Amino acid sequence: MFEPILTRNIHRPNSEKIATYLAHGGYAAVKLALTKTPDELIEMVKRSGLRGRGGAGFPAGVKWGYMPKGAGIQKFVAVNTDEGEPGTFKDREIVERDPHQVIEGVIIAAYAVGASRAYVYIRGEFFLGVKRWIKAIADAYEYGFLGRNILGSGFDLDMSVHRGAGAYICGEETAMLESLEGKRGNPRLKPPYPAQAGLFGLPTLVHNIETLACIPHIVERGPEWFASIGTAESKGPKIFSVSGHVNRPGNYELPLGVTLREIIYEHAGGIRGGRELKAVIPGGASTPMLTASQIDVPMAYETLKAAGSELGTGAIVVLDVTTCMVETARRLTKFFAHESCGRCTPCRIGSQRLYETLDRIESGKGTMDDIDRAVELARGIDGITFCPMGAMLVNPARSAIQHFRPEFEYHILNKHCLVCKSKERNYG
Ligand code: SF4
Repeated sequence: MFEPILTRNIHRPNSEKIATYLAHGGYAAVKLALTKTPDELIEMVKRSGLRGRGGAGFPAGVKWGYMPKGAGIQKFVAVNTDEGEPGTFKDREIVERDPHQVIEGVIIAAYAVGASRAYVYIRGEFFLGVKRWIKAIADAYEYGFLGRNILGSGFDLDMSVHRGAGAYICGEETAMLESLEGKRGNPRLKPPYPAQAGLFGLPTLVHNIETLACIPHIVERGPEWFASIGTAESKGPKIFSVSGHVNRPGNYELPLGVTLREIIYEHAGGIRGGRELKAVIPGGASTPMLTASQIDVPMAYETLKAAGSELGTGAIVVLDVTTCMVETARRLTKFFAHESCGRCTPCRIGSQRLYETLDRIESGKGTMDDIDRAVELARGIDGITFCPMGAMLVNPARSAIQHFRPEFEYHILNKHCLVCKSKERNYG
């Protein structure tokens, strides 16, 4: 039985309060971190093998090491709470129920890279999360964990909250920085990377909530402990958001490398109504879907890649046999077409054309050429867009056609759905 680490506090009464956090050993890692040198901390995070939990999976310690050294340089930490990937709700739960765990991670990260200012960027719809962030930061100031001369160490750190307006693309780190600067949230060209030229053109360490929540535990328990959990290339605990046709949807913290089968059938209670599993989206809506025959895959970066998908945010969307895969692909593509920032043509126009093609197929107005057209559109978008969204937005349609092509053909030939046999669509 895996003992929760990142979610160990969230079911305690008043878990969001600083008194609760302190009563269960909170902020001990900050005290320990302030006795070490920044280089020692960077080395610890490198040795832990921690990879960013926001989707890209970049090694956190390497990112810390890219930040320029030197006391005379203004540096920032940007905390990404813009969790907008459909199916993902892990960061929201951490912020609402255990914000001090993240603040502790921010303080350690800022101290290690020499940043004196941290900005929290949070998705505008997370009303409770905003309230919890503001209260937690105020309490951390009051207890001397933020502000001037933290715990007598001579280290200063200020922290504040900025609400976004709910654009999906602002979860991309450079679009988030643009938005934090008060501009339209368009992604920036990389390089330069944020560690070189981030917020206001200054070096910025950008991290996701779950990544930062791992930091206090690495400092307290040691990098070797963290690296002992997981697989060869995927270390540590991971919170998997499970949604869709399962009996017990929710967030489950488990070691990386756990199989999809175990998550779905042991932790999430199996498929609702005892139905058969049809497909799984393993890492958030933008990751390629897998079929029911692939669920013995370990949930790790390297194994999911080998299986033709990605770990992404670890958000698992479970689809049973009552699911129309044409509709699934169409609806997800509609979401991404709507969320395209519009900067580059393949994403802005291509996503719309892809959506229209899928819409024709689903509504029985398509031709057999439309299936190949959708595949060709996906090929024309993938890899040539300004930011990674182009490559991501084609995944639902491309993987659905790859695994469930007969369903697309059935819609075209019979003018109705293979699964529900209905000619009607209930919603757009
Ligand atoms: Fe914007 Fe899409 Fe281009 Fe990214 S790929 S810059 S989201 S238009």
